[in-house]
Amino acid sequence: MKPVKSPYLVPFDGRIKRNRFTTKPPKDEADKKSCKKALARETDQLDELQRRLYAEDRRSLLILFQAMDAAGKDSTIRAVMTGIDPSGCQVFSFKQPSKEELDHDFLWRTTRALPERGRIGIFNRSYYEETLVVRVHPEYLQAQRIDIPKDLDRLWQQRFESIRQYERHLSDNGTVILKFWLNVSKEEQRMRFLSRLDEARKNWKFSVKDVEERQHWEDYMQAYHQVLEESSRAWAPWYAIPADNKPYMRWQVARIIRKTLERMDPDYPKVEQDEATRFDEMRALLDSE
Ligand code: ATP
Ligand code: MG
Repeated sequence: MKPVKSPYLVPFDGRIKRNRFTTKPPKDEADKKSCKKALARETDQLDELQRRLYAEDRRSLLILFQAMDAAGKDSTIRAVMTGIDPSGCQVFSFKQPSKEELDHDFLWRTTRALPERGRIGIFNRSYYEETLVVRVHPEYLQAQRIDIPKDLDRLWQQRFESIRQYERHLSDNGTVILKFWLNVSKEEQRMRFLSRLDEARKNWKFSVKDVEERQHWEDYMQAYHQVLEESSRAWAPWYAIPADNKPYMRWQVARIIRKTLERMDPDYPKVEQDEATRFDEMRALLDSE
């Protein structure tokens, strides 16, 4: 299946210019009200598409989100999934790995959480953390108790190779994959952290650690950039969505998900001839009660 076109689709040939990724929407599309309306139009359509996917029960859709803190992963997931039948959809968040998770290879914990056929599965962070936060803090590798090559670049290359093959495997076996990087600017993150400090009802979201991580901004950007170069493929495309304007970001994400589901074109299962005859019998039986 060909990925849905979007100005934010990351090319598959590697070598991407750094300044290619923008954090801001085009000026003429930034109006918050019209973005919200456009989002509602998208989510209205998602409901029926998801029902068909569920009834068809042959394929699944995996949607994963990566982003710096305060880019708006949680609220995007919430906004996009409103109106969808919760029983056909599942969300998993991946934080620092547990002791049990560290006792396995780095793809184990996410594999257990993959969506079953007929379902939409959402990953809030994912195995890509293994090439992002762990890359920025290679000391985290100690806890994984693996052989660490002297040349760390080899390790990241191995991980990219594992991820590419893994995603290819999933795609060959009925999982359609969509990957979103919510690209927020450093200045916008600063403003959002400040409002978490200033507004009482946002205080709970503030974490000292987030401000510490911010000091590694450049390292993170480099790591993200390489992730996009190494792992955007036709069977598992990345979309780099501008995240400084939340309504615009949510609309763009919803639009890509809706179009992808349309392209998958799931269908209600057809009733076989034998079964159709049985239906007539059953109808007669119920009518005669
Ligand atoms: P919120 O946006 O609400 O803050 P969050 O996803 O940032 O949610 P936190 O509990 O704040 O959740 O942070 C999760 C942390 O776990 C992140 O800093 C992330 O980088 C880290 N993490 C995720 N996966 C791994 C991993 N494999 N190894 C080490 N750290 C990881
Ligand atoms: Mg956090």
